[in-house]
Amino acid sequence: MYKGGSSYVASSAKIIRYAGLFIPLILVAYGSLMQVGIISTNHMVNATSFFAICFWWVYVSIVQFCLPSKTALASALRLIAYHLLAAAYLLFVSGLDSPLVSCWILLILASQIYFSKRGLRLSILAFILVVIADLLLWPELGINHVITDVIALIAIVSTAYVTLRITHSQDIAHSALTRSKQQEALQRDRILTLINNLTVGVISTDRNGIIRVYNAASLDLLDTNDSLNGQHINSILPVVDQLDKSINLFDELQKVKTVVKRDDLNYAFSDGEEIRLELTYSAIRSNYSRQTKGESNDGYIIILRDVTKAKSLEEERDEFVSVVSHELRTPLTIAEGSLSNVQLMMSHPDITQKMLGDAVDMAHEQIVFLSHMVNDLSTLSRAERGVADTSELIDIRELAHKLHDEYSDEATKKNLQLNLDLSATLGFVNASRLYLEELLQNFVTNSIKYTKEGTITLRVKQKAGIVTFAVKDTGIGISKSDQNKIFQKFYRSEDYRTRETGGTGLGLYVAAKLAHKLGITIKVISRLNHGSTFSIDLPVVSKKSA
Ligand code: ADP
Repeated sequence: MYKGGSSYVASSAKIIRYAGLFIPLILVAYGSLMQVGIISTNHMVNATSFFAICFWWVYVSIVQFCLPSKTALASALRLIAYHLLAAAYLLFVSGLDSPLVSCWILLILASQIYFSKRGLRLSILAFILVVIADLLLWPELGINHVITDVIALIAIVSTAYVTLRITHSQDIAHSALTRSKQQEALQRDRILTLINNLTVGVISTDRNGIIRVYNAASLDLLDTNDSLNGQHINSILPVVDQLDKSINLFDELQKVKTVVKRDDLNYAFSDGEEIRLELTYSAIRSNYSRQTKGESNDGYIIILRDVTKAKSLEEERDEFVSVVSHELRTPLTIAEGSLSNVQLMMSHPDITQKMLGDAVDMAHEQIVFLSHMVNDLSTLSRAERGVADTSELIDIRELAHKLHDEYSDEATKKNLQLNLDLSATLGFVNASRLYLEELLQNFVTNSIKYTKEGTITLRVKQKAGIVTFAVKDTGIGISKSDQNKIFQKFYRSEDYRTRETGGTGLGLYVAAKLAHKLGITIKVISRLNHGSTFSIDLPVVSKKSA
């Protein structure tokens, strides 16, 4: 059917289609009763004209019913045909005093539906013409006839007007509703686009905890491609707290008064891997629901963030700060105690130089220890901040000699021999000089520290493009169980020989961090009481390629 007019709606077109079939049939039946004299009329023409009118009524109404018009022209022609037939019927069959005159209202309505105000005006005009024609064609019917026609005219026009006002106001309401639906759809699309572009997961549920909206980031976070729609939040997000106690998220949502943020919840994937989640949730409160249904909310919004990395870093940092402050406290207390003793002793006449010297030595020893620790910490901080991340071309042989020269005196002082064992050709490595030097220095100082007699060998060998730096000693060695722990921060072996020496327990922890920065791993081979070898491998580069 041609969809014409501003007030066209599919349902009205359907009503008109059926009315267009049945009303003419009723008119034909009613006219037939007049024809045979059962109902009286003062307008009836001869039988031939009556049947001609009936024939065209039936024909037009069946065509209109079976072949709905598809163009504006076809609708206009059909409406004209209906108007002409209705006019003929009123003028030559029933007269305007018949109750059937009210059917013209339907013609006015149909004209308005298909051709808006223009159709409406033309239909009313047509009726006025019919009234005039009726008065001219049947003057002998007297004053009563004139009064009847005028009343019919007023009745039709006023009824049509009222009906049209009503349908018009309904049209306004309908188009307002359509507009508001469009606005709502647009608003929803906007919100969906917005949340789909967020990097945090967003899930919205109804007040029963059933998921209604979610974004792509939430699927990423939960590592799934399945639709979450229609599923309960508890089944999608089973979470546990830090004590491994399962948390009923829906219960938590129901308790929420304003906005709640929790970062102590863990979520486990099907393969057992766990992530730490930060959940921010709040209730959706709409005035409409509160006023109409007395409901306190319309569901919930949950924002999800994977904070696994941030949390583990934060926890590691907190632990580190607490351990460092603990480790610093002991030497500081001892140094402070020794120096207070010195102060007291100085005012005492019986105190010997030796006693003073011992106390000062003790304080000095602790301060040296503290300075080592601060050095280690600053190396660690440099490595973590990536201050010396830039690589440079390092001459391996030159580096090995430098290390040897730096530490041979220290070794000699302990009656140890520091040997240098180098391959004939060594070449270059491309690495951060600071990191590499600090790492190797750590191996060498440890070897000197933990060896009472024998030799320390700095062996640098090159094979198949890989250079191996190894520091081998004949020292106290490291037990198998300690070998797994020596890279932990502040770890020192319980071995009494280790405890005899000063140390922070940070050296190898820092070395492991530096190795990580250099993209290599530290290998340890050690046997208790026989000695240890610490080594690293680096690829050799040609001088040109660096
Ligand atoms: P520190 O030497 O300050 O104690 P490190 O982190 O350098 O700390 O070393 C951790 C521990 O590993 C040492 O306390 C020691 O027990 C062990 N260790 C490291 N190097 C050697 C070595 N060459 N020989 C024996 N033990 C070693």
